[in-house]
Amino acid sequence: MKRHDLSKTKITLFEQCPKRLWLSVRRRDLIKIDAATQARFDTGHAVGNLACDLVEDGVMVTMDEGVQGALQQTSNLIAAADLPIFEGTFQHEGVLVRVDIMWPDRKDGWHVAEVKSTASRKDYHIADLATQVWVMEGAGIKIASAFIRHINTKFVYARERDYLGFLTDRRSDEELRPIADDRLAVVLDARQTLHGDEPDIAPGPHCDEPFGCDFKEYCYRGIKQAEWPNSLLPRTGKKIAAAYQVKGVEELTEIPAGELKNPAHETIRIATVSAEPFHDPELAGKLTADWVSPRIYLDFETINPAIPRWIGTRPFQQIPFQFSAHIEDTSGAIEHREYLSLEDADPRRAFAEALLDAVPPKGAIITYNARFERSRLNELAARFGDLSEALKGLASRVVDLEPVARQCWYHRDQKGSWSIKYVLPTIPGISGYDDLDIQDGMEAQRAYFEALKEPIGSSRRDEIAQSLRDYCAKDTFAMVELLRHLTNESAGGVAEN
Ligand code: SF4
Repeated sequence: MKRHDLSKTKITLFEQCPKRLWLSVRRRDLIKIDAATQARFDTGHAVGNLACDLVEDGVMVTMDEGVQGALQQTSNLIAAADLPIFEGTFQHEGVLVRVDIMWPDRKDGWHVAEVKSTASRKDYHIADLATQVWVMEGAGIKIASAFIRHINTKFVYARERDYLGFLTDRRSDEELRPIADDRLAVVLDARQTLHGDEPDIAPGPHCDEPFGCDFKEYCYRGIKQAEWPNSLLPRTGKKIAAAYQVKGVEELTEIPAGELKNPAHETIRIATVSAEPFHDPELAGKLTADWVSPRIYLDFETINPAIPRWIGTRPFQQIPFQFSAHIEDTSGAIEHREYLSLEDADPRRAFAEALLDAVPPKGAIITYNARFERSRLNELAARFGDLSEALKGLASRVVDLEPVARQCWYHRDQKGSWSIKYVLPTIPGISGYDDLDIQDGMEAQRAYFEALKEPIGSSRRDEIAQSLRDYCAKDTFAMVELLRHLTNESAGGVAEN
């Protein structure tokens, strides 16, 4: 049998960008897997394993005897046609695929499911499934039906170790057919690419669709990029950038004064051209005048695992495990309170109780992107009837600093973002997040899961706990500093209730 040189994954890479396929085979030394990508892979594997656990009597095709052994084992299982098969291995036209799950139809043929750790079916999933089906049919298998099996976000984990209903099937036979019919041409093109010289393809928007490419650093080397690209303008930036690109205008600083119709865009343009930050302390004062004292600057850290971990939770549900609160009285004196759970147990009840204990009964609760904290508070209120009224009371006091920053401050180094991580370093005399071990919410989530993994020494767990505390406290103290800066307010001097 002809040796395979392509796989489903390689064809997916080719369809994103021929150069990506070429580099992934010929320049493996350039591949860098960052922590976020690794976390995505880990989730995919965990969901794949769970998908197998949910199918009774399935037989796993192993690679213990290499590819030939897997092909032979699959062939034997197909001949018996009596049990579901995991990782069934097929080859056709030099393309090797391993099919997540297949099971025999009562009358004839096989049903096929491609498992995905996403909340819905995506277009590129159908191309993956089409490749599987094309290879299987080429290997002589009759396909009875084909599905994308993805996570069912309505699933609620109600009993220990009972994940029945966690995945849901989306039948995709019709959608995959035109793609499968075209596979041979794609395979031949991919093979030609693989055996030729490095493709001459310039990087562009395709480098992030459907996935961020591992080779961006390599492909962008030596390419001069706009320092202040038009795409940094909020909301319609990409559209504006495309329109100006046609005219050869890549830099925001090259757009003539008055051409941008959106006043917020024009503010950004002026701040970028002049290198002078935009600052409206008067408006900031007006917008926050009724944020009564004591002011409670509050931030939550959450995890949202694809596979629910605790009873009563759903896939991807945001579960708060940590908060930081800086409480500022009228004199400007500040007290810090916090909560962190690193136990492998549902943290929500203890979190809610600690929060109610920490937050004073009156005063504005200041957050950055209020919708997030307000939603978590309302979810906790819905979960714990006896705490519901008190938690809803907190939710009703939540105010949002982000739109105030958006209307009253812009420094060109923010590059179009009002994420507090971008805003903070632009404020004179205030340090950013660079010195911290954990620098964003995704890193906080990864640290949380690392702390839960066994075996982990107590010193490493303590280290993680400290890093999480430092990070969350930074987020809330950053809000204290930001509001003072926005309003030109020194410590103290806030309105009294
Ligand atoms: S960075 Fe872009 S151009 Fe380079 S290989 Fe990846 S997708 Fe292709």
